[in-house]
Amino acid sequence: MSENRSTATTTAAAGGPGLPQERRLLTEVPGPRSRELAARRVGAVSGAVGSSMPVYTAAAGGGVLVDVDGNSFIDLGSGIAVTTVGNADPGVAAAVADQVAAFTHTCFMVTPYESYVRVAEQLNELTPGDHAKKTALFTSGAEAVENAVKIARAHTGRNAVVVFDHAYHGRTNLTMAMTAKNMPYKEGFGPFAPEVYRAPLSYPFRDGVDVEGNPIDGPAAAARAIATIEKQVGAHHVAAIVIEPIQGEGGFIVPAEGFLPALVEFARANGIVFIADEVQSGFARTGAMFASEHEGIVPDLVTTAKGIAAGLPLSAVTGRAEIMDAPVVGGLGGTYGGNPAACVAAIAALDAVRENDLVSRAQQIEKLLKGRLGALQDKDARIGDVRGRGAMIAVELVRAGTHEPDAALAGKVAKEAAQRGIIVLTCGTYGNVLRLLPPLSISDALLSEAIDVLEGVFAELSD
Ligand SMILES: *Cc1c(COP(=O)(O)O)cnc(C)c1O
Repeated sequence: MSENRSTATTTAAAGGPGLPQERRLLTEVPGPRSRELAARRVGAVSGAVGSSMPVYTAAAGGGVLVDVDGNSFIDLGSGIAVTTVGNADPGVAAAVADQVAAFTHTCFMVTPYESYVRVAEQLNELTPGDHAKKTALFTSGAEAVENAVKIARAHTGRNAVVVFDHAYHGRTNLTMAMTAKNMPYKEGFGPFAPEVYRAPLSYPFRDGVDVEGNPIDGPAAAARAIATIEKQVGAHHVAAIVIEPIQGEGGFIVPAEGFLPALVEFARANGIVFIADEVQSGFARTGAMFASEHEGIVPDLVTTAKGIAAGLPLSAVTGRAEIMDAPVVGGLGGTYGGNPAACVAAIAALDAVRENDLVSRAQQIEKLLKGRLGALQDKDARIGDVRGRGAMIAVELVRAGTHEPDAALAGKVAKEAAQRGIIVLTCGTYGNVLRLLPPLSISDALLSEAIDVLEGVFAELSD
């Protein structure tokens, strides 16, 4: 065992924005050290844990990730929308180092500390709406969603939870029930939590027309969803409607204008808690601090995680004070919830979002990506749709000129891009969506280079 450990132990390397901002391939991908680690992994790590990329990480920062063989990749993934302020951001790294030197943990439920309170104050301030708000902190996105449902049930005294087609809310038992896609998230893991009901979404690229031949716009899609809720559940049974304002895992689906406001209005009129799951779309990612703002909606509760603390595990539920106070005292919590290192990381990350005006930066990235990808779509009929907001942009791939999903092509593009030094992820219910989620610290030069490479891959993969 110890021999194994000594063969390929990764030494810490300095990351952050000081890393050379370049795409650089020194070996084949994966290189020999990554292959060595992959072989050890096969013997040690559950085969049920997957990895999109075959390379092992040594350092990351700015817009690049360097592997253990010295290859430098352009990062269009941000560790799934987490390192929004950049990997190993110096402010975050310093705050965490200071904190862990002072104390690593006390448990907020035992002896509390200021940074937790400060994060709560900031989230109350930043999330949509100027009503009185309160926050509770947790560790993962799924845990935030679970707790938002607990809070809504305690507040309403009702049981039913309404979610949507293509939804992704996590991998715990309740959030598996709330997540739409079976493979791989739910396969073999049932039975799932009861009282979760699924309504149809607004999916402009795939919605088509209704039986009268009218396009299914936002209000029509909302009416369809509300009819499902009223007929199949009964509005008076519903504790919460939970929705991602832009669906993440489901394919970066931006609902048609008017869909979300109509759902909020329905929730309000029926005493239902409206929960926006902003775990992926929050914290400047979409060119607004929260994606709910694009449609001017004010959710009752907002769940956040991913981009909140630059990679340290932290999540939150923030919302109307009277709803947040509904559960019994001691009803919410968790050993690690609001860990002090994660809290100071969040404070530093939020500072970086403000100081670097990352909301504007995400808007610039949207312009660059949509311009380049739109031009590519014009000459390549396999690109069915380019959509998203800010630095959360998707390319939906289809058999040329149809709406038939082409998951195989998405997989090939991502794999070939990796060979050429680009980290790009796939998603979507049909597995046919390339998702671009660069850190907001990436340069225009690197972004353009990444799109050049993707363009080359598309050209090469044409028949
Ligand atoms: C990733 C994600 C989750 C789950 O977060 P974890 O930290 O992986 O538990 C929940 N909701 C949305 C919208 C997500 O993107």
